[in-house]
Amino acid sequence: MKKLAVIGTGYVGLVSGTCFAEIGNAVTCCDIDEQKINNLKNGVIPIFEPGLEALVKKNVKEGKLHFTNDVALAMKQADIIYIAVGTPMAENGEANLQYVDAVANTIGENLNSYKVVVNKSTVPVGTGKRVYNIIKEVSGGAQEFDVVSNPEFLREGSAITDTMNMERAVIGATSEKAASIIEDLHKPFDTTIIKSDLESAEMIKYASNAFLATKISFINDIANICEKVGADVTKVAEGMGLDSRIGSKFLKAGIGYGGSCFPKDTSALLHIAHSVGYDFKLIEAVINTNDFQKHQVTQKVQGVFGEVKGRTFGIIGLAFKPNTDDMRDAPSLKIIPDLVGLGANVKAFEPIAKQEAFKHFGDTIQYVDDIYETLNDVDACIVLTDIPEVFELDLRDAKKVMRNPIIIDGRNCFSLEQMKELGYIYHSIGRPPVSYK
Ligand code: NAD
Repeated sequence: MKKLAVIGTGYVGLVSGTCFAEIGNAVTCCDIDEQKINNLKNGVIPIFEPGLEALVKKNVKEGKLHFTNDVALAMKQADIIYIAVGTPMAENGEANLQYVDAVANTIGENLNSYKVVVNKSTVPVGTGKRVYNIIKEVSGGAQEFDVVSNPEFLREGSAITDTMNMERAVIGATSEKAASIIEDLHKPFDTTIIKSDLESAEMIKYASNAFLATKISFINDIANICEKVGADVTKVAEGMGLDSRIGSKFLKAGIGYGGSCFPKDTSALLHIAHSVGYDFKLIEAVINTNDFQKHQVTQKVQGVFGEVKGRTFGIIGLAFKPNTDDMRDAPSLKIIPDLVGLGANVKAFEPIAKQEAFKHFGDTIQYVDDIYETLNDVDACIVLTDIPEVFELDLRDAKKVMRNPIIIDGRNCFSLEQMKELGYIYHSIGRPPVSYK
């Protein structure tokens, strides 16, 4: 059993801290957000993540998982300190390292014995060394310590399963001793370990996210061409994906990637490239395609209605993907203000992220808890997130309550045949439009 302090109790820190407790370690999750920690102490989980609440409660009950605002004390008591604070995008597109730097300072101030300091936050190449230098300077070199890069690959919405069944653990370390401590920590996960230097581990994370983002932008570009040549992108993706060199994942055309990782990580990687004088044209194109893709829905709406002023739209899904309350960089944050700015009225159905969405849209849109009520008397239904409720929708009942049988689907949730049969006017991404004429 190892003693861990996990600094930052967000999507990554809370999930990985809980999973490290689950595999038998003593974990203290720390945060500077007092309300978050008080809530956690009272069993209130600050984020929505399937299975998380039960696993937190189980490990708290078993005495393996604790929460505190006393970051310094938790650091002093730990053998391993995980840094899992946010690294949001700064205004110039690079990663903002102020939270990581602050944690490194606190570690330096409280270094009372040998520690392995592990960076789980997604950080630019060179940050491990930067953290090492800060701790060394602030601590005055009195105690030994090592720095490890152990990037996180979990996906929101399936974070617990992803962590408990991780496909690989990347361990980039400043010493063999630290690498083997972190390798040992991961033994119960029974996963493939990739050991490297700090810089390569940091690059693996950015390269992985940038590659996945590239696949998404690639298929979205193909989708836009499919629309012009009369092809169906879902068939194209199926045909491509069966080639094992390509694979079928991340080939789903839509309205662009969002969330807390891909947008900021692609931008940070571009910034890293620029900082070393490399013109990374490919990732720049990926980012531009993604920005362009988010306008597809508004353009389709304008294509159908011409003038949208005074029209009412029923929007399904606001979060960047199903099963999460994370609204960071969700396509809805671009699309809804565009529609509202054009004078449209928006009613929205969002089962999980409603509270988070309110922080962004406030009273500019109406929030409706029933999906059929959302569609009642609307000019069109617009699907922005492929939440399970979309697939459960009774399209016959929906058609009865809508003013017009029009669906603009940013996630290709319905089959063209079904739409034809039911008499909908249907516009999706990269597929021929359906109209009853
Ligand atoms: P988050 O914003 O949900 O959580 C970060 C937490 O850190 C917050 O609760 C904040 O209060 C806390 N914090 C900030 N400064 C602190 C300090 N000095 N001491 C203690 N706590 C502090 O962020 P997240 O989504 O968990 O992401 C964390 C890192 O993991 C980021 O670098 C992100 O890119 C990376 N990552 C995220 C995901 C994901 O799906 N969210 C996946 C892989 C990697």
